Order: sequence, then C-alpha cells, then structure tokens
Amino acid sequence: MDALFLPIEGAQHREVAGVAVDVIPAGAGRVKRVIYSPGFRWSTHMKGVVGTDFCQHAHVGFLAHGSIGIRYHDGCTQEFTAPQAIAIEPGHDGWVVGQEAAVVIEFDFEGNTAEKFGMPDRHRH
Ligand SMILES: [Zn+2]
Repeated sequence: MDALFLPIEGAQHREVAGVAVDVIPAGAGRVKRVIYSPGFRWSTHMKGVVGTDFCQHAHVGFLAHGSIGIRYHDGCTQEFTAPQAIAIEPGHDGWVVGQEAAVVIEFDFEGNTAEKFGMPDRHRH
C-alpha cells in the first residue's frame, strides 16, 4: 500500500465527515495530513458542522494524491491535481474531483494561518 495513506506514528488522528486528519505539532504551527474521501464536498459534508457559509481556513501545502476543486465566495474557481502545491485563501467551498481520495500535506497555524502566511483573511482581487 502507498505509504502516503498509512497511519502516522505519534500523530493525533481524527475523522470528521469523511475527512481523516493527522496532526503533528511543529513549533508555533502544525503539519497535517488530510485525506478527503471521494465524493467529499465541504458545503455538503462540513458546512453544517462548521456553521459558516464558506470554509474560512487558509490551506497551504502540497496536494500529494488526487484532485480537488475550489470555488470562492465570488465565484472564482480553481482545480488542483497532484503533484501540485496549494495556497487557498479563506472563503471557499472545496470538493474532491474524480474517484480517488485527495491527500493534502498542509501547514497551518490554527486560527492564524492566513495571517502568518501573509494571505488575505478572505479571498479577494
Ligand atoms: Zn475571486
């Protein structure tokens, strides 16, 4: 099996709405492996849990497997296919494209990710 999907020793593991997240602390930030199941869509599976109209997290890292689509609050869309770096601003919906899980290696600073990376707090032009 692809090592990308194996359990990570020492990581904090949780599963929410078809998303498996492994978190490893790193200084003031965190390294995460996030596995999104085929068919996952933020607005369908997470919106009700989170309680906001769009995902308000910034996502910075590396798409290591699969494909994802993004639609920002203003209608801008983006598609990413592994291997590809990602830098997604807050204020988006997102989903898995195709029949394979999407695996993202992500770096975050919990609530301060956008600020720490110098990104806008909400997608704009
Ligand atoms: Zn836009």
